[in-house]
Amino acid sequence: MSGNDSLFNELQTLKAQLNEYNYQYYVLDMPTVPDAEYDRLMRRLQEIETQHPEWLSPDSPSQKVGGVPLEAFTQVTHELPMLSLDNAFNEEELLAFEKRLKDRLKRDININYSCEPKLDGLAVSILYEDGKFVRAATRGDGRVGEDITANVRTIKNVPLSLRGEDFPTRMEVRGEVFMSLAGFAALNKAQKDNDKKVFANPRNAAAGSLRQLDSRITAARPLMFYAYSVGIVEGERQALKGEHAGRLKQLSQWGLPLSPEVSVASGAKGCLEYYQGLAQKRASLPYEIDGVVFKVNDIALQQELGFVAKAPRWAIAHKFPAQEEMTKLLDVEFQV
Ligand code: NAD
Repeated sequence: MSGNDSLFNELQTLKAQLNEYNYQYYVLDMPTVPDAEYDRLMRRLQEIETQHPEWLSPDSPSQKVGGVPLEAFTQVTHELPMLSLDNAFNEEELLAFEKRLKDRLKRDININYSCEPKLDGLAVSILYEDGKFVRAATRGDGRVGEDITANVRTIKNVPLSLRGEDFPTRMEVRGEVFMSLAGFAALNKAQKDNDKKVFANPRNAAAGSLRQLDSRITAARPLMFYAYSVGIVEGERQALKGEHAGRLKQLSQWGLPLSPEVSVASGAKGCLEYYQGLAQKRASLPYEIDGVVFKVNDIALQQELGFVAKAPRWAIAHKFPAQEEMTKLLDVEFQV
């Protein structure tokens, strides 16, 4: 077998493995490998596809967002796709991200970033019409998600009517549904006491709780929501236009919950300081985060930078190193 043949075989194996892991994670809410292992395989796949662009196919896991929406739910087609995020695993990759931005913009300007914790839950879109909650959906495969309106209505910090006035006629708020560590521990204890399934981690517990056909089950689960962006907006207000941080502030004024850790940093250097600060605080936060997200703050620059197949060019997730991940999955397996 030639070197190319064995590389091609490796590519096919990686694609099959990642497809299977995606199915377990996104559809069954039951991962069998730690995220760090998944990320390592994905990196290797991307490496081979970069070396051999002729092998890149649109159905490759490197080009796809999330999983297939479950048929048990009514499907919702996203008017603007709900994408994933590109990842940086270390300082060099973050600096390379900023360099790519400046190369693409063809100017060496100082870039400000909205810095946000990367909440470990699942992405949800909530549609408000004239300030009233009308529909909620999962990200699904990015293009089509699941209608989970009845379930999201039960989340205590999701407003059913926005506060104030002068709302856009239609506005899709995007954010993360997650479970606090305390809520997760209490839920797993109750599940165990009742001989029911124990969840592997807060993310799976949040996903499993949200994708329930009976919204009374969701209502009994300790879910929370933090907003982090907007999707489609009609009748847009000035405050939603200039900067991402301004958008978040406006959402908060309308009564939507935001993470208290959100702030703005100047340049990649400022981002690194934010990353280090949050890494130190991580263990004392009441919920799990698996990194931080940096988004170019200026919306005109975001528009100039645009998107690639799976993610915006103007944002990156800087992930924390994943030492405890394997033990986290194993611990639960031993407990069950
Ligand atoms: P991602 O988790 O790398 O980033 C995108 C997601 O981040 C968004 O959809 C949103 O839900 C979330 N997010 C949290 N805070 C945010 C914020 N402030 N702003 C914007 N988004 C925010 O991408 P993904 O496509 O959701 O998932 C890929 C990751 O999931 C992998 O890197 C891996 O870690 C994990 N995964 C694991 C397995 C497994 O088997 N263990 C399988 C599939 C995926």
